[in-house]
Amino acid sequence: MPAATPATDPAAAARAAAVPPDACDLAVVGAGLVGLATARALLRRRPGLSVVVLERETRVARHQSGSNSGVAHAGIYYAPGSLKARLCVSGQRALADYCAQRGIPYERIGKLIVATDASEVGRLEELERRGRANGVAGLRRIDAAGIAAIEPHVRGVAALHSPATAVVDFPAVARALADDVVAAGGTLVTGCGVERLVALDGGGVELTHARGRLRARRAVVCAGAWADVLVEHDGRSGGGRDRTADDAAPDVRIVPFRGAYRVVREPAAQLVRGLVYPVPDPALPFLGVHLTRGIDGEVHVGPTALMVAARDAYRLGRVVPGDLAATLRWPGTWRMARHWWRTGITELRHAASVRALATEAQRFVPALTPADLLPGPAGVRGQAVGRDGALIDDFVVSETGAALHVRNAPSPAATACLALGELIATRVEASR
Ligand SMILES: Cc1cc2nc3c(=O)[nH]c(=O)nc-3n(C[C@H](O)[C@H](O)[C@H](O)COP(=O)(O)OP(=O)(O)OC[C@H]3O[C@@H](n4cnc5c(N)ncnc54)[C@H](O)[C@@H]3O)c2cc1C
Repeated sequence: MPAATPATDPAAAARAAAVPPDACDLAVVGAGLVGLATARALLRRRPGLSVVVLERETRVARHQSGSNSGVAHAGIYYAPGSLKARLCVSGQRALADYCAQRGIPYERIGKLIVATDASEVGRLEELERRGRANGVAGLRRIDAAGIAAIEPHVRGVAALHSPATAVVDFPAVARALADDVVAAGGTLVTGCGVERLVALDGGGVELTHARGRLRARRAVVCAGAWADVLVEHDGRSGGGRDRTADDAAPDVRIVPFRGAYRVVREPAAQLVRGLVYPVPDPALPFLGVHLTRGIDGEVHVGPTALMVAARDAYRLGRVVPGDLAATLRWPGTWRMARHWWRTGITELRHAASVRALATEAQRFVPALTPADLLPGPAGVRGQAVGRDGALIDDFVVSETGAALHVRNAPSPAATACLALGELIATRVEASR
């Protein structure tokens, strides 16, 4: 579904105030699902709080929140006790309720995680253990006959069936959250990038943005793939040391990974009824090439996971010199590359060759052919990578003196956005 823009949708025009005020209680940078859910959570807790959301793009959910698999995950994969595990399970529940209240398409279409041979069964068992520990409802182990009963064209020796896994229209969720923010008295300004944060002597923070300056008592930065770009200058040091966003999590940088999809054309799209996923590599935060029947009924295969040279590399081959330099300067990039070079080559093949992507999907849907796969959309993951080269798995939310920074909010942060917004709101309130 094409996203509404101020030009096509009068409500969107009303949402996007032209000029930000010059002062507020709370400034939120970024109008993806996480920033919007955070602004909404704080306005619900504290009616009358003045909240300003500043978004660089001309519409909400322009990046990860609008370019993903559209799956409301049930919480199977994540290490028990992690933020991802807790917030995915509670966030999915909250998301389902919210969609029901707001009439947003949300469908429990169900998911299979398929072990294609005996070597994957041990990892499937570990996923089952995690899912149960995380409280995922309705999870059950099935055999080859059970797989055939749910997905007649899918082949495997065993699978986990998660009936609670759903598909959802995330851009519609973002628009509804934006409407809630504005209805509660908040201000959303689109087309207004934030360039700089300065901690003020008497407390609070000043944001320099595309249309001027905004003073706020607190700021929350939910900038997705740009989470480590915004520099926070520390005004308290009298112009001395610049405190950067990296002070919030010094050993973490965002490395962009492009995720491209192919559209499965009819009649091959009928080979898949719901969501079919492989057993992922537990050492990687990506779920592997999967097949999804989206909320609009279209079937996608993907995404790939290719390290790219721009945080907005929707087109393969796009290079933003600053993004590329930041990635290459980070020691963690090289350590990651040394460790994962074989996986990197596989991903390169998936990105470059339809045949390679089809072969990957044929492992569990044998009837799929390269000719069934048409060019499709792409998203770019803002994945945090540690100095040691580790791909940071859990959500990371950390603070500098003046601001709270969301430093890693990869999948399932779209599913978890309402719960993550509540967690951030609690942290903001605690830091007042
Ligand atoms: C290919 C792919 C598949 C995925 N599949 C799923 C899935 O099926 N289910 C799921 O739950 N999650 C999925 N995810 C993850 C999910 O999309 C993200 O975790 C979530 O959308 C993160 O939301 P966000 O608000 O943090 O980031 P974003 O949506 O990226 O929003 C960040 C916003 O900040 C703005 N911004 C950045 N810098 C500035 C600045 N200086 N000033 C003003 N604004 C700024 C950007 O323009 C952007 O709008 C997927 C992600 C990708 C890429």
